[in-house]
Amino acid sequence: MKEQPLRTTVMGSYPFPGWLELAAQQLDRFGAADIAEAQDDAVITALHDQLAAGLDVVTDGEQTRLDFNLSFYGYIEGIALESVSPRRFGPPAHDQRGRHPVTGELRAPRGLGVVEEFRRLQRIFGAVKRSTSPTLKASVPGPYTLSGRLVPNAQYPDRWALTEALLPIVRQELENLVAAGCAEISVDEPSMSCYAHKEDPQRFVNIFNRTIESVGGRTRVCTHLCFGNYKARAVGPRRLAPMFPAFLDFKCDEMHVEMASREFAELELIGPIARRMDVAVGIVDVKSYYVETPRDIADRVRLCLKHAPAERLGFAPDCGLSQTARWAARQKLANLVEGVKLVRQELGLA
Ligand SMILES: [Zn+2]
Repeated sequence: MKEQPLRTTVMGSYPFPGWLELAAQQLDRFGAADIAEAQDDAVITALHDQLAAGLDVVTDGEQTRLDFNLSFYGYIEGIALESVSPRRFGPPAHDQRGRHPVTGELRAPRGLGVVEEFRRLQRIFGAVKRSTSPTLKASVPGPYTLSGRLVPNAQYPDRWALTEALLPIVRQELENLVAAGCAEISVDEPSMSCYAHKEDPQRFVNIFNRTIESVGGRTRVCTHLCFGNYKARAVGPRRLAPMFPAFLDFKCDEMHVEMASREFAELELIGPIARRMDVAVGIVDVKSYYVETPRDIADRVRLCLKHAPAERLGFAPDCGLSQTARWAARQKLANLVEGVKLVRQELGLA
């Protein structure tokens, strides 16, 4: 279901424009129609930058998850939303995000909001006159990753129990996305890559495969594995080895791995991945303000081609770009596409 070799793609998120951050801090001053307009405008902005770069796959940049209540947790019943940061001062880190106590049965009668996001992206994209036809991708966190910000209780005594409760909710969202015409979905499980060193990786494989089992073959299923990027900081030991070979049994069409920020350590692992599925390689470092040149990108693509064939390879940033300043995000995407194009031309694929 992949259109072309050496495809350029992105993980879901893109930085918010400054005005959106400002608006998000005072949403109570906006009416419902004002917020809807701001959400549309934000998606138009993110889509513009991605289309201008010339990517083969684009997203809505997760621009509408701008407020606590508009995040996934705002859609889940049975939790008390905790917006207060437990640590407000000091250097930025993941512990500054609040965790939500569970107060009842976990349910999401309105879904997780991703279907509405995808429909908005379809509508906005459909109104753009363009000469290329990039694929529209939706991103949904997998149940294990989603469970990480919930506090276990007597009913759900640990993270595994929370994951099992969230799994059918995520699966329903995936089915609804397919019904809405979504041809490519990323089920993001960065927590699995962060914790594979201390948990049973086979258990992660089992959770992932049950999450996507009803949509496999009906849409292109991707996954994004990274070592954490909140405030542009990693949280896991940045090694792929603990995940493999178990993760080769993920029943997905594309696996994305973080490589650029790790100076391409363990790059040979893309070989075995590519024998089972497409592999999207992170060749743009979202945590660095060195902007990779098209020539850097082309060198990295050629390096990957030593381990995996062109028809299995895609290229992307290491993670979503939400934690990278927009000026850099925009230039990094443009150079990603430009650099891949250089190699496509060399190989006669352009
Ligand atoms: Zn990531």
